[in-house]
Amino acid sequence: MDVELVSIGDELLLGFTIDTNAATFARQAAAVGIRVVRRATVGDGAEEIAAAVRAGIERTGAVITSGGLGPTADDLTKASIAALFGRGMTLDEGILESLRARWKARWSRELPEANRAQAMIPEGAAILPNGHGSAPGIWLEDAQGRWVAMLPGVPREFRGMLADVLLPTMIERMGGEAGLRVVRSRTLRTTGIAESAVADLLQGIDRSALRASLAYLPGWEGVDLRLTVRNASPEEADARLDAAAAQVRAPLAEWIYGEGDDDLAEVVVRALRESGRTIAVAESCTGGMLGMRLTAMAGASHAVMGGVIAYDNAVKVRELGVRESTLAEHGAVSVETAREMAAGIRTRFGVDVGVSITGIAGPGGGTPEKPVGTVCIGLDVGGSVSAQRIVTIGDRHEIRQRSAQAALAKLLRGLGTADSAAG
Ligand code: AMP
Ligand code: MG
Repeated sequence: MDVELVSIGDELLLGFTIDTNAATFARQAAAVGIRVVRRATVGDGAEEIAAAVRAGIERTGAVITSGGLGPTADDLTKASIAALFGRGMTLDEGILESLRARWKARWSRELPEANRAQAMIPEGAAILPNGHGSAPGIWLEDAQGRWVAMLPGVPREFRGMLADVLLPTMIERMGGEAGLRVVRSRTLRTTGIAESAVADLLQGIDRSALRASLAYLPGWEGVDLRLTVRNASPEEADARLDAAAAQVRAPLAEWIYGEGDDDLAEVVVRALRESGRTIAVAESCTGGMLGMRLTAMAGASHAVMGGVIAYDNAVKVRELGVRESTLAEHGAVSVETAREMAAGIRTRFGVDVGVSITGIAGPGGGTPEKPVGTVCIGLDVGGSVSAQRIVTIGDRHEIRQRSAQAALAKLLRGLGTADSAAG
């Protein structure tokens, strides 16, 4: 099935809000064989909305809109599309009742007058129940079977309704699961290895035997490898992805830490917990980013004990026991200092693993020997200390992000669990 998507909202045009709903829709639709052939973004104007929807209806006969279903004056989606279909608006008592109940239950208040608008629906429309918020979605269809599905803009509601109601409805229209031809992807996540080095390691695999397309997606977290199978039944797509993933994994096992949305920090914390080890961090240029990432996951407290933001050299000396002579001889950004920071945090916190980051995030402070982006990562695992120097790229924020990620990558390898964690 081919569909068009119309995203509605001035804030989208102004760039204040990023249209995540369109991306969410496209990804999930592809997975069940629905193709987004065109996307439009329009402001909160009745004519703009109607024009975009009309064009989509004329081309594909199937349009999904996002946004403008709220209770305020700028929410014109329903009325403008009703007019386009030549329908009036009518009050839906069922919706009104559930709105009233919702306001009572949540705010102990009567429904404000403005919110009554949310109970107005185009004549002859079907209601798409919203289990994640107050404004229901609307399905409007004309005599030729051409339709518009209107979903709310709030991403959590959009996502929820897509999964609960809209995709199932569309799949049914396509004749159910049986005949589906889908596009499915699987992403393998690598870190600590350059895109070109990944390509070298994959030289050996037989591309024609892969039966899936392979895309390299580099970013600050590492290089993601996306495998995609198109125009296959769901079962065949999954089988082909399994086989392709196994082929790609083999030469890259050491560098792969997860799939899909897996977060490296979570993988590390899980590895620490599984091996019953504790960790503390000593951070200079990242100022706590590593600690933040390690503690983001619920249950991190079993493994993560704490840390020191040793931004100033005096703190490196006083709190971590880094020697003045090391700083004088090698500088704060050096593998020597990183080693002493890691060993210092481990022994002073009495933990199994100490990890450290010291680097030049810029924009100032670089030298020919130590350009901006130079970062040294130290690791002390039970008294066995190592350190490495890397040069990362990007602006200050990105260098800091990449530094924390590099420390996590070193941790994963230092814990000796890269393969099993990726398993
Ligand atoms: P609306 O449904 O237009 O009242 O939008 C409600 C909220 O969802 C606002 O905060 C919007 O910025 C946000 N929103 C609307 N459309 C989108 C979209 N396509 N992607 C992400 N957020 C959106
Ligand atoms: Mg809006």
